[in-house]
Amino acid sequence: MFTPIAEFIAKHYNLKAQEIKKLEGYGSENYKIESDDGTFILKLYEASCEQNLYELLNAENQIQLKLQAQSKGVFPVPQKNSNGEYLTYSETKNQYYRLLTYVDGDLFIDVEHTPELFYSFGKYVAEMDSHLLDFRHISIEARKNPWDLQYWNLNEKYAEHITNPTDRKLVEYFFLQNRERVEPKMNDLRKSAIHGDVNDWNVTVKDDGISGIFDFGDISYTPLINELAIVLTYAVMGKENPTEWVLPLLRGYHEVLPLEEDEIEVLFYLIATRLCISVCNAERAKTKGLFTEYIRVGEKVAWKLLKKWILINPLLFENEMRKQLGFELKVSIATELDLAKRHKHTCKALSLQFREPIKMTSAAFQYMFDASGRTYLDCYNNIPQVGHCHPRVVKAGQKAMAKLNTNTRYLNEVYNEYAENLLSKFAENLTKVFFVNSGSAASDLAIRLAMTHTKKQGIVVMEHGYHGNTRLGIDISHYKYNRKGGSGKHKAIIEAEIPNEYRSEVKNTGIKYAQKLIDKVDSNDLPIAAFIAEPIVGCGGQVPLASDYLKKVYPFIRGQGGVCISDEVQTGFGRLGKYFWGFEMHEVVPDIVVVGKPIGNGHPMAAVVTTDEIAESFETGMEFFSSFGGNPVSCAIGQSVLDVLEEEKLPENAQVVGEYLLGLFEDLVEKYEVCGDARGEGLFLGLELVTDRESKEPNTELASLIQNKLKENGIMVGTDGPFVNVIKVKPPICFTKENADQLAGGIEEILYAETRMK
Ligand code: PMP
Repeated sequence: MFTPIAEFIAKHYNLKAQEIKKLEGYGSENYKIESDDGTFILKLYEASCEQNLYELLNAENQIQLKLQAQSKGVFPVPQKNSNGEYLTYSETKNQYYRLLTYVDGDLFIDVEHTPELFYSFGKYVAEMDSHLLDFRHISIEARKNPWDLQYWNLNEKYAEHITNPTDRKLVEYFFLQNRERVEPKMNDLRKSAIHGDVNDWNVTVKDDGISGIFDFGDISYTPLINELAIVLTYAVMGKENPTEWVLPLLRGYHEVLPLEEDEIEVLFYLIATRLCISVCNAERAKTKGLFTEYIRVGEKVAWKLLKKWILINPLLFENEMRKQLGFELKVSIATELDLAKRHKHTCKALSLQFREPIKMTSAAFQYMFDASGRTYLDCYNNIPQVGHCHPRVVKAGQKAMAKLNTNTRYLNEVYNEYAENLLSKFAENLTKVFFVNSGSAASDLAIRLAMTHTKKQGIVVMEHGYHGNTRLGIDISHYKYNRKGGSGKHKAIIEAEIPNEYRSEVKNTGIKYAQKLIDKVDSNDLPIAAFIAEPIVGCGGQVPLASDYLKKVYPFIRGQGGVCISDEVQTGFGRLGKYFWGFEMHEVVPDIVVVGKPIGNGHPMAAVVTTDEIAESFETGMEFFSSFGGNPVSCAIGQSVLDVLEEEKLPENAQVVGEYLLGLFEDLVEKYEVCGDARGEGLFLGLELVTDRESKEPNTELASLIQNKLKENGIMVGTDGPFVNVIKVKPPICFTKENADQLAGGIEEILYAETRMK
């Protein structure tokens, strides 16, 4: 028995306590008091703990009295002390006390959840909220509570304390989405006083229905929809399919207090934001030594839901809500009209992926969301190397763009810093960088550098290689000039046969093919300026150049007075796992390196890296200028990509997950006759399909079928190779083992069905 408490309530409330129990509390100390006159809760607050506490407690009392008078629901009712006041102040202790009736029933967290209970929950909260619509209190309106969704940004600083960067990026992503998608609408949403913390510890259940709501310590004046967002966040935590559980609760709420369309539009992100606030608060508690078991449990389930939430197409969520409430759906699937419009304004040479094109609306890391509500696992886009819309990259760009965006004719620090950091990723002799805006511009410049340096014109290119869309780019891309619409080989080009281990008939493919090339060059009197190749030929069907090939070719080319160029547009920036650049895999160092795509995670930038000597040869008196290349915005973005790669250890991830996925592909090769070869490095992989193992006849039809069927199942892969029979896998390198399982499982399902049918 807590004697001082018993004495206190006897003195101030004239109550004789039979039993007193201390309860878990947040913001106040709480005692449950059993007495002859019923059960009560005594709440005790440190007067110094919050500014305006007196006013806030008054407001809380007023709200509860209003609910007692007007609502059908059960809520704690403030009790007057012997002076006729609802608030008791102890001067000696500098504490406030309130006595409230006890709300009886089982806690929502402890009971079995059913859709009917969720429906009743929605109605109960709406009924409560309908009485709060006209409640005003200056102290509530002035309150800046970090739990109030409109003040979400007070939590942003705690996100930085999240030690695991893979977790942290989710919070940063949703905070960013909130800033972009919710914040601009905030002022137009209807505001009201709300409970502000209807979680499953504050709600009671009796006879399969909600029987009461308590703990009004977070009342706030905020957009009304925040109430529902908070209710839903807690109600669906721990649920296998959260969206399903949102629906009955939402319907119940809407039937009593109809929601507006603009409220439905922001609900998805508000729930995400509340989850982020919850995990940030756990971080705050850790830094202040206030981390309790209660917070730890809450944090764990919040993370679990956040990791589910990132997979949900926000449009699908919104449309499910709209359907439930009878609002018009926001459906905009790819239509004939979209296609017609595109073709009206655009040359058909710009192709579309998949038989039925996808209309994309948004993306998050390795997931993309389309206009029909589907989520895709992106196994194919290697430009967003660190993940689609990575918040650190987006913010770096936004910040830099707001500050200064100009060309390289002025000195600026971001340029110098980024150039230095990028170059630090290369071998010591690669010391100079030129920034441009695309891989094409970079490979074009690389060839110019080579020609200027060597004063020669001949270029050796790899079969099936692709290097760019400029005139020169096409001339050095066998993949283009030698295929449909191409005008054939330029006279200054010598083609190197691709040293493809899988398709080669000879042993020691690398050495043999290198020799073949050497013989070819020797028998040709074209003076060689450069040899250009990708370390793993992407358009050739993810074909790694056979080992020792480059080791033999590079010295030969140099011996001829030429230079060696490695096109790392596809393979660079850690995609290959243990090799930050693809040439490292071949144990060679090029004279010129072309980098692009992942360098800016989608921001249009690229670079050429070379030696002092080659750069010096380019100082001919003619200025080199790129309007956009190396501007401070691009440099800031490029730097953020390097930072994220390091922070999130993404190359290491590419290695681990890549090896795992290659293993799964190798299993498919073992199991299925039509899987001819699995190859690649890190997260740059290919699965080659054939009609049978013996003949290795390319199975273009099956590759296309797999690609399109996977798409129907929400998985995107590419196809390529001279016979378009190779499944190409090159996802954002935050790809996980679960993603790998989903992909390999998806392919196997199709293979199983196909091979059984035959
Ligand atoms: N080189 C390689 C190996 C590429 O894959 C590409 C683009 N697919 C390029 C160069 C050209 O880059 P961009 O499209 O940025 O001009």
